[in-house]
Amino acid sequence: MEMIQLTPRSEGATPRSPKPPTSVLDVSLEELRTWCREHDEPEYRATQIWKGVYADLCEDMRDISTLPAELRARITDGLPMPHIAPLHTWKADGGATHKVLFGLHDGTAVESVLMRYEDGRATVCVSSQAGCAMGCVFCATGLGGFDRNLSAGEIVAQILYFARDLKQEGRRLTNVVYMGMGEPLANPRAVWRSIENLHEPKGMRFSARRITVSTVGIVPQIHRFAEADLPVNLAISLHAPTDELRGALMPVNHRWPIHELVDAARAYTERSGRRISFEYALIADSNSSVEHARALGSLLHGMLCHVNLIPLNNVPGSPLKPPTPEAIRAFQDTVLAAGVPCTVRLERGADILAACGQLRIEHAQTA
Ligand code: SAH
Ligand code: SF4
Repeated sequence: MEMIQLTPRSEGATPRSPKPPTSVLDVSLEELRTWCREHDEPEYRATQIWKGVYADLCEDMRDISTLPAELRARITDGLPMPHIAPLHTWKADGGATHKVLFGLHDGTAVESVLMRYEDGRATVCVSSQAGCAMGCVFCATGLGGFDRNLSAGEIVAQILYFARDLKQEGRRLTNVVYMGMGEPLANPRAVWRSIENLHEPKGMRFSARRITVSTVGIVPQIHRFAEADLPVNLAISLHAPTDELRGALMPVNHRWPIHELVDAARAYTERSGRRISFEYALIADSNSSVEHARALGSLLHGMLCHVNLIPLNNVPGSPLKPPTPEAIRAFQDTVLAAGVPCTVRLERGADILAACGQLRIEHAQTA
């Protein structure tokens, strides 16, 4: 494990303001055009700024060579880049997995992970909130509590950070997953704006099909998701086949029980024509018996879906453990036997605290 301290974190020293200042990554291209008009600049300047930020990946807008010097200074002042500074980086899997803890303008912190694969793919896992209010018992973020929603710009900035890294290696970012800290569908405006900005054809042109949003199961937002214009993938964190067990693991189940969630998932697949993913963290002596697998199989039978089994990542201070490899295999075989596609996800960088929210907790304890 390689750990690099970049800047000290002023833990709790700065008061937390709920909303960061509007940044250039928060606005749409249309809003940037309006900004240019209001500042007596021709509208094509907006496209040049957008291209400089999203296509050429300039970190500092003063480096956008197509702009006059005066405008570079004005945009940097008026719509700055969001404040997101790497505090710590961790590398694992021979450097293929690269995690960063970012400090935000108000002293809060979020983490993101880049995973490079041998076939050329490179996936960024981004945070959508600082902390999370959902309180899932197996999740380090949930145990750490909720700070605030991230702005669209703070989400986009995490992605651009890694896209720049990859560019230097002559590689491209191929996938984005909203599976870091926080519940994306509890912050839907910022999440959708971040997706639209990545997708904008004049900039990054990032394909919506290469984006996946993971949700704890906020049913009304799943219905809205199904109506969206952009074909973004949806993953649902299911983790249990019965209300009793799911309610014990995930408080959100008391609000939206399994039958409502599965109905929303089915409606999503029918409306969008897209396969939905279900995530299922396997926890020893909890949700991982062959009976649970059978119940899961009959719950999802016939749906256009795929189950991702995730052997539980250990969370420091939690007694919960993953099952044995044999139990994981038996669970998978039983789900497959019910006719439901099912794979076991190999955790990357598990040796360096890969699980959601753990970096922040570790950092807070050592800062
Ligand atoms: N809030 C969203 C997305 C972030 S969590 C959600 O819950 O879906 C991303 C995934 O990691 C979710 O499926 C979550 O349940 C899972 N997860 C959280 N803690 C975990 C742990 N300790 N081990 C394995 N998976 C975990
Ligand atoms: Fe929040 Fe997702 Fe963690 Fe649950 S699993 S506490 S929803 S981040």
